[in-house]
Amino acid sequence: MAGVDHSKSQELFGKAQGLMPGGVSSPVRAFNAVGADPFFVASASGAEITDVDGNSYLDFVQSWGALLFGHAHERIVAAVSEAAAKGTSFGTPSELEVELAELVVELVPNIDRIRFVSSGTEAGMTALRLARGATGRNKVIKFAGCYHGHLDAMLVEAGSGVATLGVPGTAGVTEGAVSDTIVCSYNDIDSVRSALDEHGEDVAAIVVEPVAANMGLVLPEAGFLQSLRDLATEAGALLVFDEVITGFRLGPGGAQQRFGIEADLVMLGKILGSGLPVGAVAGKAELMDRLAPSGDIYQAGTLSGNPVAMAAGIEGLKMIKEDLSIYETLQERARSLVRALVDAADMAEIPMVASAIGGLAGFYIAGDDVINYEQAQATEADPYARLFRGMLFHNIYFPPSRFEALFLSTAHTEEHIDRVAQAARVVFTTP
Ligand SMILES: *Cc1c(COP(=O)(O)O)cnc(C)c1O
Repeated sequence: MAGVDHSKSQELFGKAQGLMPGGVSSPVRAFNAVGADPFFVASASGAEITDVDGNSYLDFVQSWGALLFGHAHERIVAAVSEAAAKGTSFGTPSELEVELAELVVELVPNIDRIRFVSSGTEAGMTALRLARGATGRNKVIKFAGCYHGHLDAMLVEAGSGVATLGVPGTAGVTEGAVSDTIVCSYNDIDSVRSALDEHGEDVAAIVVEPVAANMGLVLPEAGFLQSLRDLATEAGALLVFDEVITGFRLGPGGAQQRFGIEADLVMLGKILGSGLPVGAVAGKAELMDRLAPSGDIYQAGTLSGNPVAMAAGIEGLKMIKEDLSIYETLQERARSLVRALVDAADMAEIPMVASAIGGLAGFYIAGDDVINYEQAQATEADPYARLFRGMLFHNIYFPPSRFEALFLSTAHTEEHIDRVAQAARVVFTTP
């Protein structure tokens, strides 16, 4: 059981705090929002993650959604090892990039060119610059609670870690950097219409998480994404789908395919690299070819198209192609996970609303449906923090913030969901 011994994690955390701000390399990992200290991971396999004290947890974070096939899948590990033995970075073109590009173009609808980068943040930077360069316009519409990486222009009401820290923006982001950013409300098409009425001719892009997974999990209401498509076209702005989470998670073709809507640019990351750092921007040739060196919009990266990362991505996408039925299973699992949680909450007379789509699940401890950031923020922090700690005590690792989604992998089984159901019943009924 967890709770028995955390001494090695405690010791490492103490040491880490003296060496790294907050002891971590990315803020949410510090567990600040849930009143706990982080465990330090020694290894992971499938759906389980094991800390340095030997405690194992059933992992519903899956490296923040980067893993679709669970931890250390033997095929990914083999692909990475094989690639690494041939050289860890070339700084030249390689066949692996071509192979991954071909796979992405095949799986993701409506794209024929891709630029690889090393993170979702870089994908956001590149998409924004490309949209601005191609349209000759400056402004960008984003949605409160959507996260597009930690680039300055997008760190306004940004969801994810920014929401967890409870700050509206962040120090170090200048007014100038966000003066061209217009924040609209998710699922509120009128807020977009009025922004476009006022600024339409200056708007380069509407950037959206087609399923919002950085303020908990909020699904797009019927017609919302189609209306965004229509309004963008009308205004001459680009529609940018940030599919860093939804890409290869809602289905092989991501949200575009799932909802039958064509975006002008797609941001990818997370699953694209199967646990190694890969991001990308993709779209039609005419637009993508505006990027240097074929075009005049500069973008570059020393480690972009890194062979080891490409090899991981290739293996992951091949596994997807080989068995598309994984998406049905993932969705069933996600649904039974939220059903288990809602049932347990019901029994304890705790209000809960929940949703699941593809390999994504989410819930709020709240009485009313949550369809936007304002409502997500209005949910209480304490009940979630208590649930998090309770689940952790039962060796189940939920996201350490109520503003993150739960991620399923093909390694999660119905038995794992039963474990969650049992633990949740105990946690919810324990005062
Ligand atoms: C994680 C995420 C990003 C940023 O990706 P990083 O690799 O963390 O820089 C961008 N957009 C969305 C929707 C994300 O979930």
